[in-house]
Amino acid sequence: MIVAGNWKMNKTNQQAKLFANTLIQRLAGMKLRIVLCPPFVCLSDLAEVLRETNLCLGAQNCHYEKAGAFTGEISPVMLKEIGVEYVIVGHSERRHIFGETDEFINKKVKAILDNGMTPILCVGETKEEREKGLTFCVVESQLRQGLFGLTRDQIERIVIAYEPVWAIGTGIVAKPWQAQEVHGFIRKLLKALYDENLSKKVPILYGGSIKPDNFFGLMAQPDIDGGLVGGASLDEQFVELAKILSWFV
Ligand code: PEP
Repeated sequence: MIVAGNWKMNKTNQQAKLFANTLIQRLAGMKLRIVLCPPFVCLSDLAEVLRETNLCLGAQNCHYEKAGAFTGEISPVMLKEIGVEYVIVGHSERRHIFGETDEFINKKVKAILDNGMTPILCVGETKEEREKGLTFCVVESQLRQGLFGLTRDQIERIVIAYEPVWAIGTGIVAKPWQAQEVHGFIRKLLKALYDENLSKKVPILYGGSIKPDNFFGLMAQPDIDGGLVGGASLDEQFVELAKILSWFV
């Protein structure tokens, strides 16, 4: 079970350190994988703050090259060196606002794995795609392309997040059965692409307007292994979410 907080472009370095220290105290001893994904400028300091705690550090994005003329970008080598363990990749805001393609995302997934970190690969359909009955088709295509060329060993080290775009930051959360339907589909696809044993080893997180009052129902679904949380990861609600998830461990 994993709960990951995607802080997006929120919190200054000082605010991030303060909040992380609060979380360390409130979440101490929880037998969960808890991942904080702050903005890039906070990563170095948070790596120190989180050292020897039960909280892990994640980044929200990275480039796939080691170094070079890519103004404004951050490489996986840089992230690894400061102690980042997880990297979110293919988030819908990166796909839709910054035009990231599945091919580009696949290169990042490989680079993250090559540098010994865990990609959290996000997939999910838009409202229009759902209304046209294209949900499974979109998710399958994003997964096939995002995971293209990965070895079995690499698949074992990946995390998938199903994040319906219509649920992200909208307050409209997927109903537990709607999320389970897609999670079950993803599990079956992994089984078809690899095998049953491997399909069970890949954590599949749900993301999209998670709040303490809707979290339990989602997490009670058989193929939902945790949550990727945006808005509710920025305050006290994140502690509540971790407590709820710990009932399932
Ligand atoms: C996200 O951005 O990954 C997300 C799930 O956001 P929110 O929880 O705010 O919908």
